[in-house]
Amino acid sequence: SKVFLNGEIVDSNAAKISVFDRGFLFGDGIYEVMVQLENGIFYKNAHLQRMQDNLKKIGIAHDIAELDSQIPTLLHACQLEDSPCLIYLQVTRGVAARKHAFPSEAKPTAMMYALPYSLPHINQKNMKVVSMEDKRWHQCDIKSISLLGNVLANQSAMVQNTDEAILVRDGFITEGSHTNIFFVGKEKVYTHPANHHILDGITRRVVIDLCQELQIPLFEKAIKIDDIPSMDEAFLTGTTTQIASVGQIDNHVFYQSNTIGKTTKKLQEAFAKLKELNADT
Ligand code: PMP
Repeated sequence: SKVFLNGEIVDSNAAKISVFDRGFLFGDGIYEVMVQLENGIFYKNAHLQRMQDNLKKIGIAHDIAELDSQIPTLLHACQLEDSPCLIYLQVTRGVAARKHAFPSEAKPTAMMYALPYSLPHINQKNMKVVSMEDKRWHQCDIKSISLLGNVLANQSAMVQNTDEAILVRDGFITEGSHTNIFFVGKEKVYTHPANHHILDGITRRVVIDLCQELQIPLFEKAIKIDDIPSMDEAFLTGTTTQIASVGQIDNHVFYQSNTIGKTTKKLQEAFAKLKELNADT
């Protein structure tokens, strides 16, 4: 397949990145994942704006408008212009001699790829998740390509035969290894505030807006791991996860088998409708 690398469309087999790239040596870069649906890229502008904001946060000067303008070229080269697909974007600080501090003259490395990918209409799977200590750093708002903390958490969830790791910092649930988490208690919806301890997911924001539209009370308030038994429902959100019902956290069972909570279901249905409305926005 074809990829975009530093201004050019090249065959993925021919695409070359220097071993001195700071993305490779330090994990010094930002990434983004978005999906194209039948009718356009879902919340494209929100994803690109988040990437631009993130690059700014870590001092990489790269104009995301260049990547934006090359997306149609990439999709055309991949014969995906009219097909559901996943689009991955990454910008690193570029190639330089290995010194920790920013190099004075590195040119950022920009890469994008697209792969066929179809989201289900509604995510029907009821997830089983496992909690563990959030051992990541204190800048989880940055969508950094350094994902070791997330990788180790997710791997631990996999070997425990669960679907996702739920991270706990100082007794409070922050987010999943690659998802945000919401709880429903007494018809009220809760999710961790968008601060430095979580990634402010685009899907998270969409769900917050849907709660407002549906007049479901929403609180950006972290839930204690000890308060799980007092909650009625839980669900995960993410670009590829969409809204996924959580059936079980550790030993706490919300529902057996395929049951999905009332509020979770309402939001899943509203989300599915939104996908049908949404073209490139
Ligand atoms: N939290 C983390 C740690 C993530 O990696 C992701 C997905 N990249 C999310 C939340 C969900 O974000 P989004 O809805 O923008 O995909």
